[in-house]
Parts: sequence; structure tokens; C-alpha cells
Amino acid sequence: MNNKPCEVCNGKGLVQVRDIEKQTQTVKACPACQPTKKPPLGLMPEKIWKEKRLQSIKAAIDRFLAAFQPVPPEWIDEYNRLNKEVHNQ
Ligand SMILES: [Zn+2]
Repeated sequence: MNNKPCEVCNGKGLVQVRDIEKQTQTVKACPACQPTKKPPLGLMPEKIWKEKRLQSIKAAIDRFLAAFQPVPPEWIDEYNRLNKEVHNQ
């Protein structure tokens, strides 16, 4: 087992990142000694989520129409609302 400290961060686990253009300096986890450490899972962008929801509603409405079942009015309301938000219609 080799316990020699990381050459990039000198074992601190953090490195400083300079942005010359913006003249900023931030600290981030050293990529050299934490190559497998992934950032936590983020969040799906709201617009994408709404597009997916729109597709789900549309598919559900299509299934109910195909089975000649009454479509719940709240589905249509949500569809129209999201469609307006996502597609400006
Ligand atoms: Zn390191």
C-alpha cells in the first residue's frame, strides 16, 4: 500500500482553480486523488421534466380515448397548462 500524499494537492484533497479572465479563485475537490468520487446526483431541468410530464399525460389521454373511457378533466387542464408553458401555445 502506497500512502504517499497526492502530488497534485499534496494530500489536502482540495485544489485551487484560478480563472484568469474572471480573476476568481475557487477551491474544488482534487481530481487526481479522488478520481472516482462523483458529484451528487443533480436535478432534471424543470422544462425537461414538464416535457416528460406532458408526454405522460398525452399517452394516458390517448389510452383512455382508445378504450372509449371518459378522460378525467384534470388531465386535460394540466395538459393545456403545461403545453402553454412548454410550447407557448
Ligand atoms: Zn490530490
